[in-house]
Amino acid sequence: MLVDDHGRTATDLRVSLTDRCNLRCSYCMPPEGLDWLAKPELLTDEEIVRLVRVGVERLGITEVRFTGGEPLLRRGLPGIVAAAAALEPRPEISVTSNGIGLRRLAAPLAEAGLDRVNISLDTLDPGTFKTLTHRDRHADVLAGLAAAHDAGLRPVKVNAVLMRGVNEHEAVPLLRFCLDHGYRLRFIEQMPLDAQHGWTRTGMITAEEILGRLAEAFTLTPAPGAERGSAPAETFVLDGGPARVGVIGSVTRPFCGACDRVRLTADGQIRNCLFATEESDLRAALRGGATDDDLAARWRAAVRTKRAGHGIDDPGFLQPVRPMSAIGG
Ligand code: SAM
Ligand code: SF4
Repeated sequence: MLVDDHGRTATDLRVSLTDRCNLRCSYCMPPEGLDWLAKPELLTDEEIVRLVRVGVERLGITEVRFTGGEPLLRRGLPGIVAAAAALEPRPEISVTSNGIGLRRLAAPLAEAGLDRVNISLDTLDPGTFKTLTHRDRHADVLAGLAAAHDAGLRPVKVNAVLMRGVNEHEAVPLLRFCLDHGYRLRFIEQMPLDAQHGWTRTGMITAEEILGRLAEAFTLTPAPGAERGSAPAETFVLDGGPARVGVIGSVTRPFCGACDRVRLTADGQIRNCLFATEESDLRAALRGGATDDDLAARWRAAVRTKRAGHGIDDPGFLQPVRPMSAIGG
């Protein structure tokens, strides 16, 4: 198992398949994009599948999420999903995507063994979408959501980040849209992970503010028996139920004490946290002829030193060098 010195066990593996993206969300990366990783630096499909297999077969990983950057840009995704689905014990397999391309890919991915998707949608307004993402692709995201739902990748989860002066007024409309379509909405507090280092504490719409806005239209009650556990979202029942909404207060209501995640970057580095400043290189070992046992031992050692918390409130907090898109959100 992947146990750290604070007694937590990592069972949820987040695999970044690429640092590239077809959007430029302003809380994530600059309009001009970033210096992408060069192809030889990226793990190949076979290398990714091998590391996922080591994680599942030897280290107790039970959930695998493919993310990025935009994971749908990776041509080998259906094959990678199929290989993960063939593992014993079979892990839960999900993808976090901006939804662009899902119109075409939802059915083949479901066929390959994908269980669920999380799709990011921050606005219902195509103009605001263009302002926020620097691309005119709102209709593609909506089509991707519908295709995921139709392909049985349910419940489709929607991630929304609210930004001051941009889309903060859309909390209630976004929730109504998701309820109408049978999608599960979770709001995520904006974190200091953008490549431009533009995050400010005062600019962040906090979980409390989000709940305040929602409370203007709905009666919110903490979901009964829904222990937050390792799930980052706090879940609230709307108007007596059964409808629900999630709020992920990563900054103001951290869940580090129950964190069960470990991350593998597209260039083969193990990271214990979005905010980690240390990484452990599995790619060099992999390409240097390491056995599965060697890889598992290195991975265990990497997780053992996981820090107790993200430290955003520590006076010496430094934003990690890698932006969100290169870590895998
Ligand atoms: N491209 C895919 C997408 O957008 O869903 C997957 C990668 S993206 C980095 C994963 C999630 O992180 C998205 O829901 C996105 O909204 C969120 N995200 C990106 N930058 C963020 C930030 N600075 N704070 C909070 N969430 C962020
Ligand atoms: Fe791309 Fe996702 Fe970052 Fe937006 S949040 S720029 S969709 S990686």
